[in-house]
Amino acid sequence: MHATNRCLTKYCRNRNQRGQYCYKCAQRRWREANPLRDAFLNLRNSAKRRYIPFEISFDYYCDFAAKYDYLNHRGKMAHSFTVNRIDSTKGYIEGNIEMITNAANVAQGNRERALDHVWHKLQGCKIKPEPNPDNEPF
Ligand SMILES: [Zn+2]
Repeated sequence: MHATNRCLTKYCRNRNQRGQYCYKCAQRRWREANPLRDAFLNLRNSAKRRYIPFEISFDYYCDFAAKYDYLNHRGKMAHSFTVNRIDSTKGYIEGNIEMITNAANVAQGNRERALDHVWHKLQGCKIKPEPNPDNEPF
């Protein structure tokens, strides 16, 4: 019988698919070793998912995150930090990002949704035009 190629993580029963660890464990280990890179990629992915332009370099992000000590303040708590676009009609570009708390972010989102709601009421639910189509490169 062949030697089984299992992931090296204790109690992990996945097959070895990427070096000595399974994909899942390899990814987790990489994230733990590169927390800032991980946070950067998460932000870029979520921007992509929401079709928001993302033009921030990793170097810029590192300086930005260091300024706010982000790695010690990220999370799901109300007082945890989240990256906010100062001008929400623009993408994630250098000079347009700041750290705010999740609580502040939610409050801001509620305000925007409330404004959307009012707009829909006024316009009888017509399709809302892009706020600034010239600045949207997609
Ligand atoms: Zn594993």
